[in-house]
Amino acid sequence: MNSTTTFSPMAQDTYWGSFEEISKYNVSLNYPEKLWLAWYTYMQNDVLATGIMSFVMHETVYFGRSLPWIIIDMIPYFRKYKIQQNKIPTAWEQWQCALLVLLSHFTVELPQIWLFHPMCQYVGLSTSVPFPSIYKMAFQIAVFFVIEDAWHYWMHRAMHWGPLYRNIHKIHHQYSAPFGLAAEYASPIEVLVLGLGTVSAPILWCAITKDLHILTMYLWIVFRLFQAIDAHSGYEFPWSLHHVLPFWAGAEHHDVHHERFIGNYASSFRWWDFVLDTEAGPEASKRRREKKMAEMKKAKAL
Ligand SMILES: [Zn+2]
Ligand SMILES: [Zn+2]
Repeated sequence: MNSTTTFSPMAQDTYWGSFEEISKYNVSLNYPEKLWLAWYTYMQNDVLATGIMSFVMHETVYFGRSLPWIIIDMIPYFRKYKIQQNKIPTAWEQWQCALLVLLSHFTVELPQIWLFHPMCQYVGLSTSVPFPSIYKMAFQIAVFFVIEDAWHYWMHRAMHWGPLYRNIHKIHHQYSAPFGLAAEYASPIEVLVLGLGTVSAPILWCAITKDLHILTMYLWIVFRLFQAIDAHSGYEFPWSLHHVLPFWAGAEHHDVHHERFIGNYASSFRWWDFVLDTEAGPEASKRRREKKMAEMKKAKAL
């Protein structure tokens, strides 16, 4: 766990000083591994090192991924791909949303991030180098997607129950036509409950298998953020992922949820809504009507 004491000769005054020292003594490591080790060596405090890295990563990815969608909203060419074409968010609306999300990141998420490293240590997540292979990371991330999706489906569906909706989930539904930045626009309780699915999937995996690197967890969170922001983008393209992977939810799936307030509760995949008949939208309603008619006909015939 404590990579800093195993690999590093001594802490340096600057980050790049640490990096040079690390490079001298650990020639077998690749560039990202050296950057990683130099960070933990330089910080000399794993809780702080993980905390700062997690927060900066989250902010960079969240706003970095939302930016292209803000730009796309300003370019008329992309209007034809907008799902709810007459509802383009204004710059002011996006700005207000960004400020509230930022406020919640600093007041609600930041304090929780300090618990992250002790929790990782407790279940035995590795922070050492070398990193695991790309195949192992890809497999584990795929598993986390499946687990988180199940958690999200049930928790999100529960949040549409009257009292929970009125007191918690209503905030997230302020935008009936979502946009990227609105992905984490929600009550702190909702962020906590739904965020638990994202964090506890890898924690659970590590508690059982004792085989997980914190880098895999970071990559998972990056992909999950991409998924959440893109699902709120409001755009459906001919090259959207669900055309290739029909079970992938994407923006088309979640946009309908915001528009109709009911159905399509899952985050990444379509299978839960399909199997439990909670799909939203005109096609699903038509299918449901047809099924009902067929049942009625059958009952009459009997
Ligand atoms: Zn909802
Ligand atoms: Zn949403």
